[in-house]
Amino acid sequence: MVISGTALNKSASMKFSWDEKISRAQKLSTDFPTTKEILTVYMRVAKLQRAISDGLHGTDHPDISSLLGFVPDLHKLVNNLGSAPLKEALEKIGKNATRWSELLLQYWEQQPEPESPSEALLTYILLQPYAQHVTSQMQIHSENTSPICPACGNAPELAVLREYNNGARRSLLCSLCSTEWEFRRVLCPNCAEQNKEKLPVFSAEEFTQARVEACETCKTYIKCIDLSKDGHAIPAVDDLATLPLDLWAQEQGFSRQQPNMYLLPSS
Ligand SMILES: [Zn+2]
Ligand SMILES: [Zn+2]
Repeated sequence: MVISGTALNKSASMKFSWDEKISRAQKLSTDFPTTKEILTVYMRVAKLQRAISDGLHGTDHPDISSLLGFVPDLHKLVNNLGSAPLKEALEKIGKNATRWSELLLQYWEQQPEPESPSEALLTYILLQPYAQHVTSQMQIHSENTSPICPACGNAPELAVLREYNNGARRSLLCSLCSTEWEFRRVLCPNCAEQNKEKLPVFSAEEFTQARVEACETCKTYIKCIDLSKDGHAIPAVDDLATLPLDLWAQEQGFSRQQPNMYLLPSS
């Protein structure tokens, strides 16, 4: 994929900063103690990603191989997390620069061939701040019916509702580069179903900021973070604090197309 774009005013970007994400995770881990563990993992990973992002700061067109410089920090992080599957996957790749470059490029070009979910997560941790950095300089034009990210071509991880003209406007949030693009409210991003009757929305009292937007036709759902209900919510983080909603949706027979990447693989 060729990445090109015109420089865009920083203020025009809706992306949340790493600092905002980390402090939101800190707060939610107190408010929602049942998800404290996953939010703690999130904070540790996000701190490494903040460091990567800081390292890229000021470079307009960083080379993807500049990420290899962060592999030693990734080793430290994985040791701290104490996740056996991640550790094993990391040891397998080792310090093999060619393999790292291959993995990073495959992901960037949406042709990932990971050997395991752990390998996918390791690559994602390094690549995400890079993807955010590169796409934050792009001007995005897209149809409001595009189910994939207009900036990097990846699938959406979440839907977002933002206040707009006394109502709320829906957008989708890219799973890799965190670009947000407008998307019609009554339209399934997975199968393009447009019949309102087939697109039920579920919510739970304890999670005002989140809802499940399901599709009876393809039996998938996308989680939606509703910023019109809670202006402090940060989609990627509030997604983790409201994981019980996902479990519920899955019990009802709906599957999530793009799970939150910060969930540690169990194998
Ligand atoms: Zn993207
Ligand atoms: Zn559908």
